[in-house]
Amino acid sequence: MKHLLAVAVLLGSLAAQTAPAAPAKITYLRCGTLIDGKSDAPQKNVMVRVAGERIEAVGTAAPGAGAEVIDLSHEVCLPGLIDTHTHVLLQGDITADDYDVQLLKSSTPYRTILGTIAARRALEYGFTTIRDLETEGAGYADVDIRKAINNGVIPGPRMQVAGRSMDVTGAYPLLGYSWELKMPKGVQEVDGAEGGRKAVREQISNGVDWIKVYSDRSYYVRPDGVLDDIPTFTLEELKAIVDETHRERRKVASHAAALNGVHNSVEAGVDSIEHGQYIADADLKTMVAHGTYYVPTLFVGEYVAEGRAATGAKVWLDMVRIHEDTFRRALKAGVKIAFGTDAGGFDWKINPAKEFPLMVKGGMAPAQALHSANMTAAELLGMQDKIGSLEAGKFADIVAVPGDPMRDIQQLEKVNFVMKGGVVYVRP
Ligand SMILES: [Zn+2]
Repeated sequence: MKHLLAVAVLLGSLAAQTAPAAPAKITYLRCGTLIDGKSDAPQKNVMVRVAGERIEAVGTAAPGAGAEVIDLSHEVCLPGLIDTHTHVLLQGDITADDYDVQLLKSSTPYRTILGTIAARRALEYGFTTIRDLETEGAGYADVDIRKAINNGVIPGPRMQVAGRSMDVTGAYPLLGYSWELKMPKGVQEVDGAEGGRKAVREQISNGVDWIKVYSDRSYYVRPDGVLDDIPTFTLEELKAIVDETHRERRKVASHAAALNGVHNSVEAGVDSIEHGQYIADADLKTMVAHGTYYVPTLFVGEYVAEGRAATGAKVWLDMVRIHEDTFRRALKAGVKIAFGTDAGGFDWKINPAKEFPLMVKGGMAPAQALHSANMTAAELLGMQDKIGSLEAGKFADIVAVPGDPMRDIQQLEKVNFVMKGGVVYVRP
């Protein structure tokens, strides 16, 4: 049997060598304007030649006879957008009740069905790649959504996923129920350095690309204006998780909103700080030195603030103001800022591109804001050779908007053409 199998493999490889490869489908995009993601200067009247799933050339060559030409002469073509912080398994959680009801009243299969719709929405908004940062109690359903997209079963963006995420015992919802009840949790509860290593191994074996940790909770504003917190993991625990993850060639994203959570995460060597409402100047310096990315998620903070304040958590209103100041300081300090929105923390019917105007309001030039969702995000994902700019050899992940986003950043909320891997999903 073994012998037969070897023959079959040999024949298979011979066939692969001798059979002529089917020619890749050639498509031309006629772009009125093109921003390639490398230079900030838009180019006029550019032809993008797409062969199969990849870009073959960006230039002025005229299409050959019979080639398919997609007319985007009235549009601005851009590299596909990248959102590095999403939750396709979550459908908005302004209040604790919104969150609890999703975990208590919806099965994981039902939530996964909704997750496939969220993934499709992300793609149709122009996000051709997302980093989905945990399922909030839906196990490894993100691994399956990624698989269904990669196998062409459902439309959706390229995905890197984080599975269940980690927090210490007793720090993450569902909380506040009778102690007699065993409630579901939105994370994997992990304690101790060895527990952290074991959880990393378990999550990676189940297919995650990223390890996500929650590094702080219970936020309050000190009289001196600093946003303080209760750190969750000890520095020793975080270091063990980071070490084990890096040893297995994966990366760590840390939810860290305030003083101690950010400090411990940065010291432990995580790869990205998520949210970062408050980051001390000294930690910003360390982030620059370590090359740690900052994924600010400004929009979701504004979006949930009123609702959370109405249920008694007024600190969320202060956090919006503190966040904007931190964003400005991070920009000035030269921290690498990657675009991320926390979509799913707000309803997927809202376009996550609403993050862009807030980044511009916070001091970024429109070109910088766009860059954060192109090359900077691609680098955070380790995909800088594959996506993030429009260059020969990269995946044909291309979107278009009707007007110039360098003059009006809100154009990025109006994506009217989406191609991912050479396949068109939205047309003007
Ligand atoms: Zn999140």
